[in-house]
Amino acid sequence: MAKILCVLYDDPTTGYPRSYARDGVPVITSYPGGQTAPTPKAIDFTPGALLGSVSGELGLRSFLESQGHTLVVTSDKEGDGSVLDRELPDTDVVISQPFWPAYLTAERIAKAPNLKLAITAGIGSDHVDLDAAVQHGVTVAEVTFSNSISVAEHVVMMILGLVRNYIPSYQVVIDGGWNIADCVARSYDLEGMHVGTVAAGRIGTAVLRRLAPFDVNLHYTDRHRLPESVERELNLTFHPSAADMVPHCDVVTINAPLHPETEGLFGAKLLATMKRGAYLINTARAKIADRDAIVQALESGQLAGYAGDVWYPQPAPADHPWRTMPHHGMTPHISGSSLSAQARYAAGTREILESWFAGTPIRDEYLIVDGGRLAGTGAHSYSTRM
Ligand code: NDP
Repeated sequence: MAKILCVLYDDPTTGYPRSYARDGVPVITSYPGGQTAPTPKAIDFTPGALLGSVSGELGLRSFLESQGHTLVVTSDKEGDGSVLDRELPDTDVVISQPFWPAYLTAERIAKAPNLKLAITAGIGSDHVDLDAAVQHGVTVAEVTFSNSISVAEHVVMMILGLVRNYIPSYQVVIDGGWNIADCVARSYDLEGMHVGTVAAGRIGTAVLRRLAPFDVNLHYTDRHRLPESVERELNLTFHPSAADMVPHCDVVTINAPLHPETEGLFGAKLLATMKRGAYLINTARAKIADRDAIVQALESGQLAGYAGDVWYPQPAPADHPWRTMPHHGMTPHISGSSLSAQARYAAGTREILESWFAGTPIRDEYLIVDGGRLAGTGAHSYSTRM
């Protein structure tokens, strides 16, 4: 019997919800391109419920306990004597979400001799040291596509929010004011601008598709080129690298995984090549951008705005400079954890566990590391230091 350690974010400050703003979420059975949404044999939760916090338990408890497994759920993941560190030595499976990542460093993996499976309930497994997972034979899996559209919607919201100066204008209302000029002196139309994505995978392509009707000029860079038919349909300009693309863009959105090739990509050097007054949206991973270079670019006016929901570390400390830098539109890491997304990635987590316990293959598209090497989606989108 296995011990499963599930690291989730805290319940709402007002307690676990007893009711919700809406009575349900739309049923999504497949994603763009045809991949089916998760297909577990059953689920023990109501789609639309809060599943990603500690009391939500990703809806896994009765399923796991009915099979004799042990489930430990905690939000306590940092500092000496954390529940994560205490429970890890005899844990077989760790589940965590990028929004509240259980950082599975090489040291932690070395202290977990029983660890065989690390599941990301969501997308993005950079909180797991993939080299260490490869070396220790730990399988890493994530619920590919489960929240890609959720993030794409957030990106579009943030682009419009920055360009139209939405957040400061909302603040004027809250503060009881009505100075139109205060609001519009930084407000533009997106129409006609050049918008580029660093990476055109599931999220990047969904962002491009959602922006096409805004009559903007669309650009992208990626390690692999999109089919010619898609380039033609969306009128895309391809650039061989981010460095080639960003000087052409008024808005840049980052949608690549964090791995050795992308870490620190948006540093002072690349930012200096962007148009003065460009906007940068990063919902991918904080470490793709240089923390202090972003602050400086906003202060100097090189960037007109920066928005995103990814920070390092997470949770971000109270004195993180991105909380107070000018012209930002940051949120905590929420874009991929809408109630709609939670229903999908909780079901996907259950699907992965069902396969694991039955000894049947995990869907290839869910795999990041397996059998001591990058596998499935991991082999396509990630790189290791080795
Ligand atoms: P995909 O795997 O579908 O797409 C990633 C794309 O990035 C692939 O097309 C890949 O290229 C490309 N890529 C990898 N390295 C580079 C590089 N050096 N330069 C340019 N392109 C590169 O992933 P998703 O679109 O679903 O997600 C992307 C990332 O977004 C995740 O890895 C995660 O970090 C983040 N994310 C954030 C969430 C949030 O809540 N904020 C939620 C979900 C994801 P190719 O395939 O051609 O090799």
